Amino acid sequence: ADNRWLKVTEAKTPHGYTVGISTDVTAEQRALKAAEAADREKTEFLNNVSHELRTPLTVISGRASFLRNSERLPQSKSLAAALENATPADGAVTTAVTSFQRFVSEQSAGIENSAKHMLRLVEDLLDWTRVARGQLELDLARIEVTDLGRTVVEDLRPDAEAKGLTLTYSQDGPAEAMADTIRLKQILYNLISNAIKFTDTGNIHLSIEQLGDQIVFSVADTGCGIAQDDLERVFQRFQQVDGSMSRQKGGLGLGLAIAEQLAVLHGGALSLESELGKGSTFRLTLTRAEAAFQRTG
Ligand code: ADP
Repeated sequence: ADNRWLKVTEAKTPHGYTVGISTDVTAEQRALKAAEAADREKTEFLNNVSHELRTPLTVISGRASFLRNSERLPQSKSLAAALENATPADGAVTTAVTSFQRFVSEQSAGIENSAKHMLRLVEDLLDWTRVARGQLELDLARIEVTDLGRTVVEDLRPDAEAKGLTLTYSQDGPAEAMADTIRLKQILYNLISNAIKFTDTGNIHLSIEQLGDQIVFSVADTGCGIAQDDLERVFQRFQQVDGSMSRQKGGLGLGLAIAEQLAVLHGGALSLESELGKGSTFRLTLTRAEAAFQRTG
């Protein structure tokens, strides 16, 4: 009555009779369709939430950065000028204004950092929804990668030093790959930020080496490491190894899933070696541009 379809499969009984086994296919298919629809709905929802959050966050981050440099604002300058012209010059007022400017600047730096952190999470969510819908596309060009590696290390060095860690870099000569500059940077930022996040003492090292047709980017840390049983899991979406520790460190468990997808879209791979308590080495392997061209003719 309610559109039930039965699938009949033939089977033999132990005594050799052929019987028909009927399964309610409609129910199975319906469940599958419902699961797919739910999955799509979730992706849509994530996408909408991320878009909604991104706009106000961009505003907060922008305004905070504006305030952080408050002494450069025209209002602040005219205040300072007015004070200078006031007779007699009141040292106490000048000190109060300077201290107020410093206060505004410190508070804004805090707001800016938090907004930037949230923006990174939102960007990860947006990237993930692009991956889930198969809409993440690369803008490939032939690029030299060792300068790019150095830039990422220099950008992240203050974060490492703030935790008392050293961040070093080595390479064995200029190397060219067919890559999307922004996305390649994103992979390296992600690996090095993770290394900083999960290391309490020691050193983080990025090396770029050429091995035959390959360029190998290795990010090695002396951090907490990952148990053998968890090695596969870290690349899965929303997965964090030790729930308690990762929650302490924050994050959505999307960074490595996105990084791996980006590596694959580049025709490369992301792999991991780790020992619990000793540290981890993540390796991104890309094909050298020369070799990639030879291969495609
Ligand atoms: P998140 O942003 O939540 O950290 P990721 O996908 O970047 O998500 O990482 C997933 C999990 O992999 C982390 O929560 C952590 O448990 C583990 N992990 C990633 N990088 C490292 C590392 N360098 N050392 C130890 N564990 C790591």
